[in-house]
Amino acid sequence: MKAVSDNININEKNTIKAGRINVLGVGFDSVTLDEAADRVMEHVTGEGTVSDVFTVYTPNSEIVEACINDESGELFKIINSGSLVVPDGIGVVKAAAMLGTPVKEKVAGVELGEEILRRSAKAKISVYFLGGKPGIAELAAEKMKEKYPGLVICGTAHGYFKKSGEESDAEIAKIKASGAAVLYVCLGAPTQERWMYENREALAAAGVRAALGLGGSLDVYSGEARRAPKIFIKLGIEWFYRLLCNPSRIGRMMALPRFYVRARREAARIRSK
Ligand code: UDP
Repeated sequence: MKAVSDNININEKNTIKAGRINVLGVGFDSVTLDEAADRVMEHVTGEGTVSDVFTVYTPNSEIVEACINDESGELFKIINSGSLVVPDGIGVVKAAAMLGTPVKEKVAGVELGEEILRRSAKAKISVYFLGGKPGIAELAAEKMKEKYPGLVICGTAHGYFKKSGEESDAEIAKIKASGAAVLYVCLGAPTQERWMYENREALAAAGVRAALGLGGSLDVYSGEARRAPKIFIKLGIEWFYRLLCNPSRIGRMMALPRFYVRARREAARIRSK
């Protein structure tokens, strides 16, 4: 394992919004899943014109590590700019507790996404699915429409396009034409967060009120990928199930022990103050 450096807040411009819980430089909102969904829906159904897109990021410990290792400090800035940042991982939840500032609960992006689909179906709010391999977003839309009668999925597109320039602009034009109020961006992290951040103004101009970065959620909604059995989730070892299903994740997962060492060190530093 690579040595874990002590350098956390690499960029002094990395500002965490007031009221958030600082886990190694990333600020998390301490909310329950329901409260998170309330915040999104309040913005989506809010009266009047909303000139900004409500961005939802769902970082896990791998992403916190990616922020720390991004020497430009850009990724910290992007993630911390989110309108709502929730911990999608037991590692972050445990680290927050270790640091003496616990969060209410883990809010898995895939679950938050599903709750917003349930509420959107009731409120007749149109949702657009962007991401996954060709065919996945369509399949996810079919399955979710079956599960939540009345749900309007106003458009779908796969996630294998160039993330800047003409191809990216063409995706945004399609989103605009669809009339989507809510956009699911499932391009994997941190690609999706960068894309959402870079295009936040264009997305607002396209009429999108909320954009959620939800990683592999469309794979789950489509039935192509399974979530871990409940017992793995309960024991906090969903990551282990994902590793068993997909051993090539091992490289990425080496971030987890590094994150843990860093969190323990930071907790000890805080205690010794
Ligand atoms: N993906 C995509 N476009 C890309 C790269 C990835 O749409 O250019 C999709 C991929 O098909 C998968 C998701 O992004 O559905 C990433 O899933 P993963 O479980 O790796 O999400 P993460 O753990 O990164 O949030």
